[in-house]
Amino acid sequence: MNQTVNSAVSLRLSVTDRCQLGCTYCVHGHEPEKLPQDRVLRFEQMMTLVRTLKECFEVEKVHVTGGEPLLRRGTENLIQMLRQESIGDIAMTTNGQLLAPVVGRLRDSGLRRINVSLDTLDGEKFARLTGGRLDATLDGIRSAIRAGMSPIKINMVVLRGVNDGEISPMARFGLENGLQVRFIEIMPIGPAAEWHRDLFMPSAEIRRELAGHFTLTDAGRAGGESAGVADIRDAAGRSGQVGFIASISEPFCGQCRRLRLTCDGRLIGCLACHDGIAIGELLRKDTAENRRFIMDAVRDALGCKSASRPFTQARPMDKIGG
Ligand code: SAM
Repeated sequence: MNQTVNSAVSLRLSVTDRCQLGCTYCVHGHEPEKLPQDRVLRFEQMMTLVRTLKECFEVEKVHVTGGEPLLRRGTENLIQMLRQESIGDIAMTTNGQLLAPVVGRLRDSGLRRINVSLDTLDGEKFARLTGGRLDATLDGIRSAIRAGMSPIKINMVVLRGVNDGEISPMARFGLENGLQVRFIEIMPIGPAAEWHRDLFMPSAEIRRELAGHFTLTDAGRAGGESAGVADIRDAAGRSGQVGFIASISEPFCGQCRRLRLTCDGRLIGCLACHDGIAIGELLRKDTAENRRFIMDAVRDALGCKSASRPFTQARPMDKIGG
């Protein structure tokens, strides 16, 4: 192919639509229909997109997600494939429930960065919100620390009236354990669309809450990153960083170069305005012609990024790959 590298992109690969949890704002109220196995792309087919992208773009980062990525057998093989393609920055987002026993394998396959979703440190609330066990996720986080994963980021979706009393405790948990907590604004996607007005808490309010308990100093936003970062210090002198993903109150569409691939092969350029372009069939057969069509789809997907809202995404995050 005769195209030059023209800019950087990052890619989120959703390796499965399955998740053992049922977070109320993500899957509650709809019994998720599962894809038949033959519709789910093989890792090699996902790699066709990675290789095709590399022909025209610098692929800055690949993020492996789901559904729950650790429910897919052999996820470490995908990490290895990505390393073989010289992807320098590989990350995974997981609910952590199955992390403890596999974290060593993931590290050995080349994964260094891991994001663990954790909305509460209260076991009963965790069970109510997710249907899972808090101790399993905490065990996963401890195992990741022992395995030397770095950075480990904690993703907390802040839900007004549900876990907004835990903003400072979560930041403290991060400081005590050397983790970067990222406070995420809930997006009106999937079931969250219905309750968004009630649940939404803007990042500015989250910062104000933190500023009442910690010294907080804005550290800006790394190029292309979704999170604004702040340095945080507690009264005992412990310091670290927290992140704010303010997709709603401070949209960062202008800098966004993120693409998502669902596990059945839909390429999504924007969470807010795009249901995706079906490229699964093109990925199943790696030919020069198909790569050209894939690149057309990539350009269309990137072209749909804009600051214009509202969200029209009908799929829940477990289907898109959050
Ligand atoms: N199962 C993995 C996990 O739990 O991290 C990966 C998939 S999950 C869909 C990825 C992230 O999306 C989680 O941190 C979850 O809290 C977040 N998420 C789901 N629905 C969301 C919404 N409506 N707004 C913001 N974040 C959401």
